[in-house]
Amino acid sequence: MSQRLCLILFGPPGSGKGTQAVLLRDKLGFAHISTGEMLRERVLLGDELGQRVARTMKTGALVRDETVNKLVEDRIELPDAAKGFILDGYPRTVQQATLLDGALRAKGIGTVVIHLKVDYNIIIARLSGRRQCPACGTVYNLPPDTLPEKQVCSKDAERLIVRADDAPETVRERLRAYEVQTTPVLEFLKSAGYRCFGIEAGARTPREIVAEIEGLVEGEFGAAA
Ligand code: AMP
Repeated sequence: MSQRLCLILFGPPGSGKGTQAVLLRDKLGFAHISTGEMLRERVLLGDELGQRVARTMKTGALVRDETVNKLVEDRIELPDAAKGFILDGYPRTVQQATLLDGALRAKGIGTVVIHLKVDYNIIIARLSGRRQCPACGTVYNLPPDTLPEKQVCSKDAERLIVRADDAPETVRERLRAYEVQTTPVLEFLKSAGYRCFGIEAGARTPREIVAEIEGLVEGEFGAAA
């Protein structure tokens, strides 16, 4: 199978898109494109755009479509995305989906949409236990009673931090943004003719979920995908 492929991982914040994207990247040899990560990198640059993005992300609202679209347009042209790429957290608005749809069609990229379905109560519990290593970026889901001295990265022993946008009031706004701006994207993609698969992702292990996704991709595009 030589066609270039795109996997769109769709789902609310905390549904496991990032975890699945990393597992799929390693198995399929595709690029992992996370708009959240790219925006956090921009924030670290500290330039004018980075500062503006930081202010928006802190509230839990979505960053402007023009900013995110440009990041993705440039990113999918990099060599590591030549075989295929996994979109994690994009598109999040119908405007973004419209632009992506045009690019996917123009480039003849085969596309599957995977919708990770997770109950909101599970999401809120997950996000409140989510920590990240400030050095290597590894994400951990800690049980609620984890002692502070145990909250260190197993790879480089850095003390783990709470992402600014995982604070409870920001999480509420992120879920609201998902409901209002992002859920219509799934309908848009379906009516544009994309194959969309819903996967129960609440109570299963990441490995079980990734195996199901791989099976779906294989069913659509063949084993060499
Ligand atoms: P994430 O890590 O994907 O949960 O994204 C964290 C934050 O980055 C979101 O709450 C938004 O503020 C911003 N963000 C990430 N992806 C997008 C996108 N596709 N469109 C607009 N804002 C985004």
